[in-house]
Amino acid sequence: MVGYSPGAAVCLIGIRDSFLMTDEQLLQKANEIRERAYAPYSGFKVGAALLCADGTVFTGINIENAAFGPSICAERTAFFKAISEGYRDFVKIAVTCDKEYCSPCGVCRQVMSEHAPDLEILMGNLQGTFKSVSIRDLLPQGFTLLENP
Ligand SMILES: [Zn+2]
Repeated sequence: MVGYSPGAAVCLIGIRDSFLMTDEQLLQKANEIRERAYAPYSGFKVGAALLCADGTVFTGINIENAAFGPSICAERTAFFKAISEGYRDFVKIAVTCDKEYCSPCGVCRQVMSEHAPDLEILMGNLQGTFKSVSIRDLLPQGFTLLENP
């Protein structure tokens, strides 16, 4: 057994992430879950797959409602599932839809900015291609009440 040090463990976690889930695999998970989207009003189905630092993936779909206000996006569904299960350290999220690239809405950007200020976002489509952007690019100078978020 190789000697243990806390610093090495941190590095190993980072390395393990790339072994556990490639960008293409994360996009595939988003596309698979997208089929479960509940979008009878818009017909616009979205899937999301959120990768946590330990390699765990939480998926999400958009869920519409006849009153429209209670509807939720796929990205926030994935985040809220993860947060409610005690996860707080997020690496990247894949979002897919039937457009050229699926760009998160402003509300989702605000949620991502608070819970994952270094998040990478894979804006994907049904063909498996994607653009990689950071949440800081999508929401510069986002709103916060915290001194050091
Ligand atoms: Zn949204």
